[in-house]
Amino acid sequence: MNTPLSTGNPHTNNALPQIARIIKMHEEDNVAIVVNDGGLPAGSVLDSGLTLIEKIPQGHKVLLKDLAQGEIIKRYNVCIGRANKPLLAGSWVHERLIEMPGAVGFDNLPIAQQKDPCLSPLEGYTFEGYRNKDGSVGTRNILAITTTVQCVAGVVDIAVQRIKSELLCNYPHVDDVIGLEHTYGCGVAIDAPDAIIPIRTLRNISLNPNFGGEVMVVSLGCEKLQPDRLLPPGSFPIQSGTKSEDGPQTVCLQNDSHIGFMSMIEDIVQTAVPHLERLNARKRETIPASELIVGVQCGGSDAFSGVTANPAVGFAADLLVRAGATIMFSENTEVRDAVDQLTNRCANQEVASDVIRELSWYDSYLERGRVDRSANTTPGNKAGGLSNIVEKAMGSIIKSGTTLIQSVLSPGEKLKKNQRGLVFAATPASDFICGTLQLAAGMNLHIFTTGRGTPYGLAECPVIKVATRSDLARRWHDLMDVDAGRIASAGASIEDVGWELFHLMLEVASGKKTWAEQWKLHNALVLFNPAPVT
Ligand code: CA
Repeated sequence: MNTPLSTGNPHTNNALPQIARIIKMHEEDNVAIVVNDGGLPAGSVLDSGLTLIEKIPQGHKVLLKDLAQGEIIKRYNVCIGRANKPLLAGSWVHERLIEMPGAVGFDNLPIAQQKDPCLSPLEGYTFEGYRNKDGSVGTRNILAITTTVQCVAGVVDIAVQRIKSELLCNYPHVDDVIGLEHTYGCGVAIDAPDAIIPIRTLRNISLNPNFGGEVMVVSLGCEKLQPDRLLPPGSFPIQSGTKSEDGPQTVCLQNDSHIGFMSMIEDIVQTAVPHLERLNARKRETIPASELIVGVQCGGSDAFSGVTANPAVGFAADLLVRAGATIMFSENTEVRDAVDQLTNRCANQEVASDVIRELSWYDSYLERGRVDRSANTTPGNKAGGLSNIVEKAMGSIIKSGTTLIQSVLSPGEKLKKNQRGLVFAATPASDFICGTLQLAAGMNLHIFTTGRGTPYGLAECPVIKVATRSDLARRWHDLMDVDAGRIASAGASIEDVGWELFHLMLEVASGKKTWAEQWKLHNALVLFNPAPVT
């Protein structure tokens, strides 16, 4: 992958001596983004001799040549829109001057034509992880208590606090105890076809490799999502002393044996003990890097996301694929405008059909709500220089690296053992929903890039956060794990930061805590429920 084309020149204002720095992503582009902290004032002179005719904020686009109304504005060598009036070179190109192109259709897409880059295998890289009975590998050793319905959340919270304060000190190899709480389970149209998505999401999260195959459930009793519907026989590992047909090991709060609140708490705490004992007996062992299942996503993106952090993640994604690992990218509305790139990059026709199926289903889901993909961009994205979803998508998809897409997951589905390499896990772009669905897919390590900044973290899985700008990395020095801004501002290469991230992934997978883990920053599980509520 090339380092972005960066140019610099001292501008003419002697009162503010600084090099005017811009980044152009492709030779054919007619816009470039301003790199300098605080932006560049009018009168700044670029390397090419072009003078800015107005102030341009950091991360925003400068027009490099005059455009007539209707002419194409190009970034990443892709049309991100057309000028809605004549524009002069040196001016600030923001979203109010750009007419967004329509979405690419699903007919006549290039299918599986891109050649496999045939990257050489990467051997000998390992981490220290927890091998599970089913062959999967955890990067953490967590007791996760599955819940069938939101009604039990408060009780589970108190039981979890008690387990942590009174019992956990006896189980030093157990990293944490958490309740898998959510808003689903009752008051929902559980027989609606789309209810399969939240139900399988909850089922598959309870089987995430970081929970060691220990499944225990807290249920209310009268809810629609009954324990054996959540975890039908055969869908979960059988624990000692139980049989599959007994159903998952469940504490039911409405059970007649419970007299008073404390008996419910006591029941949950006592049920947890054998699970804690089994988890505590586990030890980290040396595991090949091929057992990593990494989910990547971005949140709070800015114009640097597609220049620094996401290309570095893309380079690391290729390293993971070369090491035989699995890497998932997601966020439907952020790849929708690059559907032709995706279908072309699929390993075969069947995978391409799966991509089209997922993205067209998502288009119709958005249509039902009378919006389209353009509902994705936020005020923060625009303030950060991203004019529209096309520009955001081109910067987002770079996270997936350069290898061929080997398979596609529908929302809430779990990876099968043979699904390795680059996977498109179809999810909404919402940070919490995407993270929740990637957990269900079996993610054991999460990479999150951010430009505007977010304190995002998950209790279920370590999250490595990558800053797109050094200014953010400096200000949020105890929240950001990697500063990819050095690619724009300090001459670091995409390859350097990609390797750094790869090595950090192995360290974090082996137990090193990320900043989000040190502060215990835990966002909620948020289910994707496209079915009606009642
Ligand atoms: Ca996101």
